[in-house]
Amino acid sequence: MKPELSALVEEARTALQGAANEDAVDQVRVAFLGKKGKLSQLLKGVAQLPAAEKPAAGKLVNEAKGELEDLLARAQAAAKLRRDQAALQERLDVTAPGRRHVRGHVHPIRETTDTILRIFGQLGYRAVTGPEIEHEFYNFEALNIPRDHPARDMQDTFYLTDDVVLRTHTSPLQIRTMLEVKKPPVKVVCPGAVYRSDSDATHSPMFHQVEGLFVDEEVSMADLKGTLLAFARKLFGPEVRIRLRPSFFPFTEPSCEVDISCVTCGATGRSDVEGGPCRVCKGTTWLEVAGAGLVHPNVFKAVGYDTEKVTGFAFGFGVERLAMLRYRIPDLRLFFENDVRFLRQF
Ligand SMILES: [Zn+2]
Repeated sequence: MKPELSALVEEARTALQGAANEDAVDQVRVAFLGKKGKLSQLLKGVAQLPAAEKPAAGKLVNEAKGELEDLLARAQAAAKLRRDQAALQERLDVTAPGRRHVRGHVHPIRETTDTILRIFGQLGYRAVTGPEIEHEFYNFEALNIPRDHPARDMQDTFYLTDDVVLRTHTSPLQIRTMLEVKKPPVKVVCPGAVYRSDSDATHSPMFHQVEGLFVDEEVSMADLKGTLLAFARKLFGPEVRIRLRPSFFPFTEPSCEVDISCVTCGATGRSDVEGGPCRVCKGTTWLEVAGAGLVHPNVFKAVGYDTEKVTGFAFGFGVERLAMLRYRIPDLRLFFENDVRFLRQF
């Protein structure tokens, strides 16, 4: 019996050496260990042996079986390893061109904000930031907008509680700054996101502002106009003109809207492409870009400044508006849809 078993194991070993893959190894397993396999045939021979020889023969068959199982397991593992390596080689083509990683870059709103801050930085303004969830004292009350003031309706506010709001402008930072800097001069710009329940092609419920505040002695409208003109020329070019139109804001007196000469049509009012009136300024040659004015005495009172001694001006830009003019973007919502085809152009 023993020589036959040894021969069987050797036969299996040779068969496995020729087995190219896991399927071939499995075929060898079936041929030797399967129900009709070669080992089963030998077992039938054991059944016919005299009873005295059966235990010893059974032991030999079991040993051979164990040896076969061991051989098969090793062959199976080797075949699997060969398959994995082949798959890896397929993926790892060292001659293939490298894969390009898409690089992120600065969003046009961020870029425009940074440019605005850089220009005002050159004019001596310090940038300050603060909370977007704001107490109504900073957002309204201290800015001369008491609870019953109609201007609170103008700003379509998101209220979180009765007296906590998503800030409707970055002006609360002017209050926070003046309360912190007990004595003027104060010279800050306040960038950040602001919120109003408003949404169409030119309004978004979230947008960005940069506001400026300059408080000192004997600050006048002439200082304001000079500052805004210097800024507009830095941002849009030396040929840009500005004009101030009377307006109303609760926190400034006098107040004005700030227009710049149209940068799309070069203040001609006409469209080069279509021949008709300029689509951006609608033929008026002017574009409204900011609100401004001299700080209202009530605002100074709210922060404890001496209204007889100090004066100041404040202004506020919508960053989206300026970015739309800089990059000739027709729809405000493009900024926030996060379509990479749009964003990649900047
Ligand atoms: Zn125009």
